[in-house]
Formats: sequence, C-alpha cells, structure tokens
Amino acid sequence: MTLLSVENLTVKLGGHTALANVSMSISKGEIVTIVGPNGSGKSTLLCAIVGAIKPTKGKVTKAPALRIGYVPQRLHIDATLPMTVARFMRLPYRGRALNITATLAMVGLHHLEDQQMTTLSGGQFQRVMLARAILHKPDLLILDEATQGLDQLGSATFYRLIETLRTKLGCAILMVSHELHVVMSASDRVICLNGHICCHGTPEVVASTPEYRALFGTGTQGALALYRHDHNHSHDHDTCDHTHHKGEDHV
Ligand code: ADP
Ligand code: MG
Repeated sequence: MTLLSVENLTVKLGGHTALANVSMSISKGEIVTIVGPNGSGKSTLLCAIVGAIKPTKGKVTKAPALRIGYVPQRLHIDATLPMTVARFMRLPYRGRALNITATLAMVGLHHLEDQQMTTLSGGQFQRVMLARAILHKPDLLILDEATQGLDQLGSATFYRLIETLRTKLGCAILMVSHELHVVMSASDRVICLNGHICCHGTPEVVASTPEYRALFGTGTQGALALYRHDHNHSHDHDTCDHTHHKGEDHV
C-alpha cells in the first residue's frame, strides 16, 4: 500500500531551483533513506512532503488520513524560555495521543518530564524530538538528519532505536542522513538526490552506480558489509574485527 507519492516535483526557492522533477513514493512499513551532498534539496523535499513548502510544479499525494511524525533538521529553543520536556511534548496537542511518560520510556528517557529542554544533552534532545514525533502513532515517520551532532556510538544507538520503533509502531520511515555506512544497510531503498534524483534502488544497487560513486566515492561498500555483519549478530559495537568481509558475502 502506497502511503505517499511525489510526482514531478519542482521547487524554486528565491529564483534558485532546489528540486527539479522529483518523483518517488513510500509504502507501508518501508525504510527509505535520502542521501545527497549539502544543498542537494533533501530538506526541501521533506518540507514539501509535510506541506511546509509549496511546490512550484508537480504534486504530493498522501493516503487518506495519513498520520506523519516529523523531526526537522533544526529546531532552536530559546535558551531563556523555560520549557520542560513534558510541556514540549504536549505542544501542539491534538487528538488522541500516546501517554507521554510511556512514549518517553519507549525512546529510553525515563523520569525526564520535569527537566528543562535547554539542559538536555544532544542525544537526549534528539530522543525527545523523536518521542514527540511518535506521540500520535504516525503511519510515516520523517527524520531529517536526526543524528547530526551525535557521536558515532550515539548515532548507532539512535538508528537501532528507530528500527525498534518501526517494529513496535508498524510505521514507514523516510529519512535523510549523512551517515552512509549505517543508513545504507538499514534501508530498504535509497534515493540519491542532487537537485534531481541521480539514482535509486536497494542499498547495494545504489552503492554500485557510477552516479553514487561520483558523489560519495567507493568507500561505502566495506563499511556496508561491516555494519551488516554487526547487524546480523547480537554484538552491539563490536565491528572492528570484521573489515575483511566484503559486501558480496552478504548480498
Ligand atoms: P540539503 O537539505 O540537501 O542540504 P536544502 O533542501 O536545505 O538542502 O537546500 C537546497 C538548496 O536550496 C540550497 O542550495 C539552499 O541554499 C537553497 N535554499 C534553501 N532554503 C532556501 C530559501 N528559503 N531561499 C532560497 N534558497 C533556499
Ligand atoms: Mg538539509
């Protein structure tokens, strides 16, 4: 079942064409990752999908009553504004929602409701953002570079959490990430964007296309295998000894 489709989307921002003729779709339960260099229109595409930017041409079609949870790339909270985690979670509070304490527990944050937003660590802040995005049980969770600013361990933990949430909530995930080696193998499909769609397909197919290699080089294959190896076993961070595994072993 298609949750959302984008057809021939063109977005011009201040005379600059940020996106040209982009078409894509996402189905129930899928993990789709968008990769691309800085300024390639990734955030613009997500903004158009959530309705925050009006397309110049083309259209975005959503399944009836589709619920979207969105974690934007940047959110600045005024350091002088007193705002507890619980209050932030309740804004804006529409319709039926999961219990706030239970949702915070789902992302591994316990007893944090009364803490000030401005005192959270980077990882805690991103988890609160994620908790807020899943509060209304979305069919589609959209994440824009959600692990920006987290260290490698923090990012790996965050992506694992996202996979757990997908299983628990049964939602599809559309995300933008720069951490190619991690997201590539955790994705069902990858879309490589550079103002237009350069290539798309399974992680293995995309990583081997000339377009992808021109943008990101060939370094991802080994890391892809490395992560996959780790992913298929119960070791969480024990990836260092498996560099001899090639992508072909696991495809
Ligand atoms: P990405 O998320 O891939 O880094 P963006 O979607 O944020 O890229 O931006 C795509 C392009 O559009 C960039 O060249 C950026 O400078 C430009 N852009 C983004 N927002 C605006 C705006 N409000 N006005 C004019 N240009 C913009
Ligand atoms: Mg962006």
